[in-house]
Amino acid sequence: MAELSARMRALVQPHLAGIEPYDPNFTPTRINLSANENTYPMPAPARAAINEALAATPLNRYPDPMSGALRNELARWHGVDRACVCVGNGGDELLYNFLLAFGGPGRTLVTCPPDFSEYAFFASLAQTEVARVWRDPATFEIDAPALLEAARTAQLVILTSPNNPTGNLVSAELVERVCAACPGLVMVDEAYGEFAPAGTSAAPLLERCPNLVVLHTLSKAFGEAGIRCGYVLAAPDVVEVFAAIRQIYSVNVLTQAAATAAVRNRASFGRVVEQICSERERLLAALRAPRFAAAGLEVWPSAGNFVLARMPRASQVRARLRDEYSILVRDFSYVPGLDGCLRITVGTPDENNAVLAALAELTGAA
Ligand SMILES: *Cc1c(COP(=O)(O)O)cnc(C)c1O
Repeated sequence: MAELSARMRALVQPHLAGIEPYDPNFTPTRINLSANENTYPMPAPARAAINEALAATPLNRYPDPMSGALRNELARWHGVDRACVCVGNGGDELLYNFLLAFGGPGRTLVTCPPDFSEYAFFASLAQTEVARVWRDPATFEIDAPALLEAARTAQLVILTSPNNPTGNLVSAELVERVCAACPGLVMVDEAYGEFAPAGTSAAPLLERCPNLVVLHTLSKAFGEAGIRCGYVLAAPDVVEVFAAIRQIYSVNVLTQAAATAAVRNRASFGRVVEQICSERERLLAALRAPRFAAAGLEVWPSAGNFVLARMPRASQVRARLRDEYSILVRDFSYVPGLDGCLRITVGTPDENNAVLAALAELTGAA
């Protein structure tokens, strides 16, 4: 990854001097299972409704700052008041704004790594200290007593459920205890929530935990990573802060139109989500087969649309998957706690068969 030039290091704000321009490590490949996107074709009725909505959207007017129609639809879906919903330009914008509004110098964000690398990045932009409560190195489960202890003196906590890249869920019971312990705000990032078993969302806790913020996105289950749309569910006064600090036109008219149509057609995505979950279990079962175990491969259960696999010479395997098979997966082997780990997005049955066959050859399990 590139560093800033010496000239720029001298000119940027001092806390940004060590920053490295983001490299998504993207190589065009035949099969891309690297970014946890939904690789299935969008259900035809949803796609038709989106096309119609886009065609009917005037482009000459500024967008509705608070995405009124979409916000109403999201509120209806989740059974909350519209005052409890704020839409953003992807979940990433809302994560950044969360740190911008509630973090800052002298304040602490608690995270449970290995988790989503953007948390620490946004914390560094907002000059917020990060207190890391490391997950169990074997199971990636959260150290609950250590988390509760850290939460007591933190302004912010982010828990990820299902966790990217390890796939673990956080129980509602633990979320509630963290909310009770923390004097600040507790975000549960449910970017992959639709792939988790029913009843595992933290959203029902909003009624009794006024410091809870639940983050969702249309990028994963809804297959709309390209339109950039996420939203938070939280108490009205928390939403007011998100609303007050956002770039007012960050969610453009096309995104609002497409997202509203997708959410109205949410029932049609159920089949795709079910298929991804059943493919995830098939992929996990295949990777747990004795021939892979004998080749030194280890996998963890996952509640997301991805699986984490540890194997000998992981970086080399990843490079050969890309160069010899034109299959892209994500290398986490350089991340603390994840040595030897690759993250594989669950794709279509054909894509999963291709990655299984290639992995078998490359790890010697064939
Ligand atoms: C993908 C993802 C998000 C949000 O992604 P957007 O595309 O910005 O909506 C948030 N958290 C986690 C853990 C993710 O993996």
